[in-house]
Amino acid sequence: MIPLAEPVLGGNEARYLAECIETGFVSSVGPFVERFEQRFAEAVRAGHAVACASGTAALHVALRLAGAGPGRLVAVSDFTFIASANAAAYTGADVLLVDSEPDTWNMDTELLYDEVTRRARLGEPIPDVVEVVHVLGHPAAMEPLLELRSRFGVRIVEDAAEALGASWTSGPLAGRQVGTVSDLGCYSFNGNKIITTGGGGMIVTADAEYADAARHLANQAKVAGGHYEHDTVGYNYRLTNLAAAVGVAQLERLPELLAAKRSIASRYDAWLSTSPFTPAPRAAWADPSYWLYSVLAGAGDSSPDDVVARLAAAGAQARRLWPPLHRQRPYASARVLGGAVADDLHRRGISLPSTATLSAEDQEAVVATALTAVGVGA
Ligand SMILES: *Cc1c(COP(=O)(O)O)cnc(C)c1O
Repeated sequence: MIPLAEPVLGGNEARYLAECIETGFVSSVGPFVERFEQRFAEAVRAGHAVACASGTAALHVALRLAGAGPGRLVAVSDFTFIASANAAAYTGADVLLVDSEPDTWNMDTELLYDEVTRRARLGEPIPDVVEVVHVLGHPAAMEPLLELRSRFGVRIVEDAAEALGASWTSGPLAGRQVGTVSDLGCYSFNGNKIITTGGGGMIVTADAEYADAARHLANQAKVAGGHYEHDTVGYNYRLTNLAAAVGVAQLERLPELLAAKRSIASRYDAWLSTSPFTPAPRAAWADPSYWLYSVLAGAGDSSPDDVVARLAAAGAQARRLWPPLHRQRPYASARVLGGAVADDLHRRGISLPSTATLSAEDQEAVVATALTAVGVGA
C-alpha cells in the first residue's frame, strides 16, 4: 500500500525514547520538552515556543489568549480540517466562516478585509480574532489581516498545523516562516503532519507574556510556588517528555523531510502539468511545505470519488479534500462569508500520496493510475 502520509521515523527517535525510559522522565517533566521547545523556536525563528498535547490544544490556548471567548467573534477559514473551528468553538466564541480564494485555496483575506471595513463603517460588530489556516501547507496572503490588526486591533492567530517550514519568498514577509508573523502561531505533530510526536502541538509567539500565559493555561493554571493554587480554569495540555523526545529527533530531520516533500511536489507538478488535473497551488510569493500534495479534477472529469477508488484498487491511498465547515453539522448555523470556492475545492479536490519517503517509481504509478481514471493514457 502506498500511504497518503506516513510518519518517517528513521532517526534518533528510538535512542531518545530509550533515554526517557532509562531516566524515568516519561511524563511532562523532563529535559526533552524544553529542548524541543528551544530547537523548534530556532527552527522557525520565533521568540518563544510552548509545547502542547495536540495542535487542537495549542489552538485552543492561543485563541483564548488572543481574546476568543463567549460573546466574541472569531473569523476562521471555511475550507480546513474541522479542528481549526473546534478550537474556536471550545472558547465559547461565535464563528464566522470565511471562504477561500481560488489561487491558494486559503482564506480570502481581501474578502474578509472588505467585510470588516464595511461592518466597521456601519457600526456592526467586527471579529475580535482572525484564525487563518495555511491550508495544506501553502502560506496565506497575510497583508490584509495585518492591516486589520493595525487598523482595528483584531488579533491574528495562525493555524500552521500543516505548514511547518513554509515561508513567504517576496513582499513584506519575505523570508519569514508561517506561524511567526502574527500574535500567535500553532503547529500540529499528529502522525500525518510534517513532523510527528505521535500526537502533539506547539504555540509560538514573539511575546514573552503570551508564552508565559500559554504555559500557565496548559498546566492547569497552576500558580508557581503555590500549593495547588490555580488562578483560572486551565487545561491539562502539556506535552510529555516521551513525545518531546520523538519531536527532537524529528526536528533534526526537518530540512530533509521538507526537501523530500518539495521534490515530490515538483515531480507531481511536472507530470500533471499538461493533464486534466489542476496541480497544487503555488503563489509566486510562497514556498509551501506541500504537506499533502493536492489537485483539482477537471469540471467534466469522472468524479474525484472514482479517482480515489481507482487509486485504492491500485494500492495507493488518496483522499477527497474536506467538505467546507459550512457543510458540517456543528457549524451549520455559523455565519458564512461566501462559500462557493470552498464548495468547489471539496467537489473537485483530491490529496495524493505525499509521504516524504515516497519513491519516484511509486509516484509515477500513482500518476499513471490517476490519469487513467480521467481517461488519459493507457
Ligand atoms: C491537524 C490539524 C489540526 C489539529 O491538530 P491535532 O494535532 O490533530 O490536534 C488543526 N488544524 C489543522 C489545519 C490541521 O490540519
